[in-house]
Amino acid sequence: MNVHESDEAICARGGWAPDFKTRPSAPPIYQTTAFDMHGLEQLDSVAAGVEPGYIYTRDGNPNHEAFARDVARLEGAEAGVVCASGMGAMTATLLAHVRSGDHVVAARVLYGRTVQLLNHLKSAFGVDVTFVDANHPAEFARALTPQTKLAIVETISNPLMEVADLPAIVSALGSVPLLVDSTFATPCLLRPIEQGAKLVFHSASKYLNGHGDVMLGVVVGPRDIIRKIKGLASLYGVNSNPLECWLASRGLRTLPLRMERVSQTAAHIAEFLTRQPAVARVYYPGLANHPSHPQARQYLSHGFGGMLAFELHGGRPAVATFFRELAEQIPFSPTLADARSTLSYPTGTSHKFMTADERRSYGIGDGLVRLSIGLEAPADLERELSAALAKLSGTSGS
Ligand SMILES: *Cc1c(COP(=O)(O)O)cnc(C)c1O
Repeated sequence: MNVHESDEAICARGGWAPDFKTRPSAPPIYQTTAFDMHGLEQLDSVAAGVEPGYIYTRDGNPNHEAFARDVARLEGAEAGVVCASGMGAMTATLLAHVRSGDHVVAARVLYGRTVQLLNHLKSAFGVDVTFVDANHPAEFARALTPQTKLAIVETISNPLMEVADLPAIVSALGSVPLLVDSTFATPCLLRPIEQGAKLVFHSASKYLNGHGDVMLGVVVGPRDIIRKIKGLASLYGVNSNPLECWLASRGLRTLPLRMERVSQTAAHIAEFLTRQPAVARVYYPGLANHPSHPQARQYLSHGFGGMLAFELHGGRPAVATFFRELAEQIPFSPTLADARSTLSYPTGTSHKFMTADERRSYGIGDGLVRLSIGLEAPADLERELSAALAKLSGTSGS
């Protein structure tokens, strides 16, 4: 220690405990902008990828690396990159694949902001986009042009929980790479790369973190494409930050337990809802009458997930009453995959960008409610939903 250091130097250079050899039991948060270099040779060899290490956090940080690497391993991918949000990861991924004049084929029912992002690329940069019905894989083949650089689909779609037939879509696409938004399924239920997809995307703000307190996105796939996406994420500044990645790594530790639990509870609640007079229809891929049930049985081998939707008799007024009754127990919150159960209203949030006619043509009615199942005991949810549904008999149109 330098005993002659000024107060200013002690403060400016402070914050360090003496070096120690014992390893912390939990990973540290590398809350740092940059990494000190031992010299010019080290800078060159780290920058060239010859020596492992980090230089500047926008380009890479151990907390980014730890989280992205674990997600890549879970998905069976070579590499991964984590960005500031799902939309950040989607932006960097699209920019890595298309330029003006190129073409993208996308499922018509995608996360609302993804559709908006594709439309923005079209109007601002001349990237052509064709939206197709993901329930008919042949539509992907019909939409292909020589300029098609990427196709996009969700494993379990929002809000009607349709399950994509990924092998059929992959074979319809030929050599065009498929990007799969697997936010609703997670690698615990389905691994799209095993089904032939090239890249897998997650809004890690949802299940991967699973505690409703982080914004992150992650993409995994072949090493060369991920390197390109990572470079663009840094260039456009959509990189993640160390604390968010550290939190997401902590959340990820319980992912398999959480997915098993929410799948069991959701299956129970879906059955319960089908018996309620105030409920017109329930959308859960585990129910035998769901249009995607055959694909769900085939591809979702470890449970049907924690997301379900149902249509209330009585439309929007019934939804308003239902949300008011449940506000203290199952809040109306425009997210999903929190530890607690939450409700959402697709007509007013994720699918607000559609006209009422478009929504109706997809089967999204004004009484449609989306329920993200949390970690409460099934009996809690059943009791609370029953009480709220009982208040609807007055508004029931049936
Ligand atoms: C939330 C979500 C996104 C966007 O992710 P953010 O982390 O909110 O930017 C993309 N796809 C799906 C299916 C989502 O649920």
